[in-house]
Amino acid sequence: MTRTLMEVAQEASTCTKCRLATTRTHVVFGVGDPDADVLFIGEAPGQNEDKQGEPFVGAAGQLLTRMLGEIGLTREQVYIANILKCRPPGNRDPQEDEIETCTPWLIEQMSLIQPQVIVTLGNFATKFVLQTQTGITRMRGSVYPWHGRKVIPTFHPAAVLRGGGEKGRQFGELQEDFALIKRTLAGPEPPPPPPPVTSLVEFERAEQPAIADDQLELF
Ligand code: URA
Repeated sequence: MTRTLMEVAQEASTCTKCRLATTRTHVVFGVGDPDADVLFIGEAPGQNEDKQGEPFVGAAGQLLTRMLGEIGLTREQVYIANILKCRPPGNRDPQEDEIETCTPWLIEQMSLIQPQVIVTLGNFATKFVLQTQTGITRMRGSVYPWHGRKVIPTFHPAAVLRGGGEKGRQFGELQEDFALIKRTLAGPEPPPPPPPVTSLVEFERAEQPAIADDQLELF
């Protein structure tokens, strides 16, 4: 029997499958709409997230929330999760075996949420989802088909902040990627209207005014 997202979160909250269980404060499972059309995947909880038990609540999270707002979305309308559910000490990079042990939670999240669009934030999420070695700078800016869904890689908001925030080069590209998310969620553009049909009947009608000139005199 399939479990609900809440049941899975409940089970994950006491996970001890890897070493990060010994140093974490909270398991940071994920937040948002369990039926969301779009799933954002970050790297791992930082200090603030570890304290509060919610992903992306620090400075990077504020930037993510702002970018969502720019395309008319709230945190409540999307789902936000991470590759790792527990904070690596000192915010070090996730280790290979931690990713392997932890990602079954993410895969269960994906299969319950069934998002149409997955946005991978930064290298770790992009490499895991798309199974690529190509870096985020080359991967971003495009939509990748993935199991009948779409993956849109973009910069990690923390990397954008480290690169100077609004003044940095990555900021504009992050905005472009969010505009791409919006267009992708809206679906394909409707085809342009067909050229006007000039059938003989319509041609003749056009030649003959609906009200003949001599009728005008009646008014
Ligand atoms: N960075 C992440 O990748 N995830 C968070 O939840 C916070 C910061």
